[in-house]
Amino acid sequence: MPELPEVETVRCGLLPAMEGQRIARAELRRADLRWPFPDGMSARLTGARVVQLRRRSKYILADLDRGESLIIHLGMSGRMVISGLAAVHVPGQFHFEHPALEKHDHVILHMESGARITFNDPRRFGAMDLCATAALDAHPLLAGLGPEPLGNAFNADYLAARLAGRKTPIKAALLDQRIVAGLGNIYVCEALFRARIHPKRAAGRIGRARIEALTDAIRATLREAIAAGGSSLRDYRQANGELGYFQHSFRVYGREGVGCLRLGCTGILRRIVQSGRSSFYCPICQR
Ligand code: ZN
Repeated sequence: MPELPEVETVRCGLLPAMEGQRIARAELRRADLRWPFPDGMSARLTGARVVQLRRRSKYILADLDRGESLIIHLGMSGRMVISGLAAVHVPGQFHFEHPALEKHDHVILHMESGARITFNDPRRFGAMDLCATAALDAHPLLAGLGPEPLGNAFNADYLAARLAGRKTPIKAALLDQRIVAGLGNIYVCEALFRARIHPKRAAGRIGRARIEALTDAIRATLREAIAAGGSSLRDYRQANGELGYFQHSFRVYGREGVGCLRLGCTGILRRIVQSGRSSFYCPICQR
């Protein structure tokens, strides 16, 4: 499942084909993904220019010149594929022919530039919706989201205030999208390892210095993953124009039973289940 860094990587990959570009035709090959498409979606997109391509949490937002924004959520298995990129004249861009459409290609944006952006989603947990740009904060998918973990509003003061008095495990608190937006299971495990905090520790029982270490760890973990995504993006483009999935090396995630990577630590990494999701951690250096 794509997490924040993967979504950011997809957004960066889409930028040259979408931002500033006009949609010549929006082709919907079915009536829904996870939910039905909004009324008149094809007509509302056709002819619109994408003024800005942004990200909020795990959503990609394409602000259109008509005052609406297209909300894109990749869900569990959604992929964006760009073809015909040579037509947008990006220096160094590889040329691709448009591939034949596949069974799970559900939405195709035919750009005026000649580029084509295809949303493919075999499991259809993804979503697309249109919303007035000025009303995005009240959209059901976006309302109530906490600050962006890489934004200025997310800092130790903020997090300390939100965690104060909470008995819930820190793992659950960080997955709560109202506290911080866009964090998922993998990067929470990685950030807690980096900050040496046990995933079961009560959120309200983490000292100020450790909260500072935690906010730093969250940012560093996400930034590294975004940087890794950026480099894999170049490879992906040269392969087939597909965006969004790449191999990462994680420090604890998925590494149950192997030795802790922290220098001098003799811990063997463990997996526990919290709220139905796996947590990976070192029983020695995470407290
Ligand atoms: Zn360790």
